[in-house]
Amino acid sequence: MRHQKFTPRADYRLAEAQRTQASISLTEKFRHLKSLTVEFGHFSPEGVTRNSQIKYTVNPDHAKSVFRLDCPNSECIGGDFDLSETLTQTVNAREGTATGEMCCQGWLSKTTIDRVHCHNILRYKLSLEYGLRAPSEPGQLRAA
Ligand SMILES: [Zn+2]
Repeated sequence: MRHQKFTPRADYRLAEAQRTQASISLTEKFRHLKSLTVEFGHFSPEGVTRNSQIKYTVNPDHAKSVFRLDCPNSECIGGDFDLSETLTQTVNAREGTATGEMCCQGWLSKTTIDRVHCHNILRYKLSLEYGLRAPSEPGQLRAA
């Protein structure tokens, strides 16, 4: 009996979305995190071609502590970039910035499962500010 209703990709994304939704907010996890700005670019596996460069500021009250970015490969299965661990380490060390590179560990497409990895590259920079925030302050979401 085969079920074709869900693809491996949709299944994975759904599970990840549920994991993200179920996580606590950044404010709940990191009491002293005042603001978080994320800058990132996606690169081809060779690391040469930049496909996009995005910068945005996250409101810790609304952002989830499972902090992940989607892989730009629309065929990618089981990949994406999870920055939760990096973020936790950065906040615990009270560092103002964190930069790094991650390689997508998903599969290139559903026809290459168990054979060819996606290996898209994410280069990121996190900028963090610490301090106690006034709880009633209105949202400070700034456009980059
Ligand atoms: Zn990928």
